[in-house]
Amino acid sequence: MSTATFMTLALLSSGVLMTALMVIYHSKISKGARIHERKNPLLTGKRFYKMAAYNTVLSIAMLYVGILGMGERYISPDPSPWWVAMLQVGLVLGLYDFFYYFAHRYLYHEWTILRKVHAVHHSGKYPTAVDSLYIHPIETFIGVFLLLVSLWIVGPIDVSAFHWVFIAYTHMNIINHCALDFHVFPLNVFGFLARKHDRHHDSMKVGNYATISPLPDLIFGTLD
Ligand SMILES: [Zn+2]
Ligand SMILES: [Zn+2]
Repeated sequence: MSTATFMTLALLSSGVLMTALMVIYHSKISKGARIHERKNPLLTGKRFYKMAAYNTVLSIAMLYVGILGMGERYISPDPSPWWVAMLQVGLVLGLYDFFYYFAHRYLYHEWTILRKVHAVHHSGKYPTAVDSLYIHPIETFIGVFLLLVSLWIVGPIDVSAFHWVFIAYTHMNIINHCALDFHVFPLNVFGFLARKHDRHHDSMKVGNYATISPLPDLIFGTLD
């Protein structure tokens, strides 16, 4: 399968996941598993759909141009042993998680430089899966850029490693906003991350800045 086909399928899968999580959140199945009851009227209507459309177009364009344009600089034509591929997944996602952590903590929260930009996303105090799209385009640009830089530093990586990285990148932010915790393994692992991010939306002053794992917050003492 070509990289472009895989990316298209993964992006479609993230859309399906988002829809499924929204349906589950609003159905009886999630009674007792909802982290909060949604009561934020800000993220509806024209304003929301406009922002969601801008971000979808911008991130898809950046991902296709950035990844396909770099070709073998990111994805090796030669296969690697499975353990090397797993290591590459950990390295790219780990690096991205730390880069994102610092950008989120300092650029968006502790320094004033991009706080107004990030406040757009924080206007959703009680987010659900769809609110992962409610981000200022500058923030979307920085997020995709950090992924491309992480791939550039670690790459070229095995094609299967790239597949896992791309799935994690396109799906984790949706899961972080799903506001669902089913308390059953392995769903509770994602539930834990969703709880942490939900807490982050509570206030611009609490921690939980990382997006893939709680590790950067644990190391720097900002896990709330
Ligand atoms: Zn934030
Ligand atoms: Zn968020």
